[in-house]
Amino acid sequence: MKIIAVNAGSSSLKFQLFEMPSEEVITKGLVERIGSNKAVFTIEVDGEKVVTKTPIKDHKVAVSMLFEALSKHKIIKDLEEIKGVGHRVVQGGEKFLESTLITDEVVEEVRKLNPLAPLHNPANIIGIESFRKALPNVKQVAVFDTTFHTTMPRENFMYATPYEWYEKYGVRKYGFHGTSHQYVSERAIELLGREESKIIVLHLGNGASLSAVLNGKSIDTTMGLTPLEGIPMGTRSGNIDPAILGLVQQEENLSLTELLEVLNKKSGYLGVSGKYTDNRDIVAEMNNGCDRCKLALDIQIKRIVDYIGSYYVLMGGLDALVFTAGIGENSWEVRELICNKLEVLGVKLSEKKNKTRGLEEINCCESKVKVYAIKTDEEVMIAREVLRVK
Ligand code: AMP
Repeated sequence: MKIIAVNAGSSSLKFQLFEMPSEEVITKGLVERIGSNKAVFTIEVDGEKVVTKTPIKDHKVAVSMLFEALSKHKIIKDLEEIKGVGHRVVQGGEKFLESTLITDEVVEEVRKLNPLAPLHNPANIIGIESFRKALPNVKQVAVFDTTFHTTMPRENFMYATPYEWYEKYGVRKYGFHGTSHQYVSERAIELLGREESKIIVLHLGNGASLSAVLNGKSIDTTMGLTPLEGIPMGTRSGNIDPAILGLVQQEENLSLTELLEVLNKKSGYLGVSGKYTDNRDIVAEMNNGCDRCKLALDIQIKRIVDYIGSYYVLMGGLDALVFTAGIGENSWEVRELICNKLEVLGVKLSEKKNKTRGLEEINCCESKVKVYAIKTDEEVMIAREVLRVK
């Protein structure tokens, strides 16, 4: 049975077509700059990327192009072969505790959550609506970034702000990257050989978050009401003293929206280094003597280690540390810098294993804590959910 996993952004649409339940990837691709004359449609055919540059008016057109390409390249014979579509939805609020079969009512409920995720949910809904129009009789499932973190106890998800903000506006911590945290923690549980476990997941990509996973359930995570909270990232600041906003607002005469834009898009690696958002550039330039690149990385590592210490205490120990996403999977330097600060917790990284690509277990034999580098796969998780949800 063929299932598509979809991740729709405001001007983009990522897709991956699976044969399920074998989880074989049949094809994948990406439509970028939707809504412009310079849109780019990329699809993999027999392992080769086929790129088409053409104006694409909206997501609906992007979806029809996708279906045309699937037939043209003989990837499928008939649209009828597609038996399910899974949509990534960023914010599920307190309403969606599980992946959910999409109906008109569900779309309306997701829409009600737009104020909590104004940059993401409206785009996710456009993706859902485009696929529902194109495949009206096919099962469609919403898979939420927040679901995995809905098991956090309230003292971990509440802010110490006026309680009415929570009641009236839903001000609380939701957490994100849930599909990835779930996927890699399930794999870590398999590797450990037991569900009863204390795991810290480090999802380190351009966006980055950590989670404390106790016995397979998320009990804390670093991102909050929005993805801005937590550790510094490629362009996000992570936690700051909110009073900074008042000072800079006065000095630079910026609006709150503009300030939040700076914290989301011009901070983190970019803000501190003044130049780079990509971890590879930061590490390379640090090695070339760029002091602010070193500082950008030092701050991030310091904050990551702070959270690890706090989650260690929260769970009363640690069985495994799991690195994932672009940086976590690929950067032996970042893994080494973090683990070197964790010897006090019994973490001992194997220098050789850490530098061997594709190895999942990278700790020394005598390490008290397992260290894993696990490739995340949010798309396969979405496809699995489409199969599972009735
Ligand atoms: P993601 O958001 O998961 O796609 O991750 C993006 C981040 O992963 C960027 O900061 C990249 O620098 C980093 N990254 C991707 N590939 C590598 C690699 N081979 N080595 C080091 N970092 C990488």
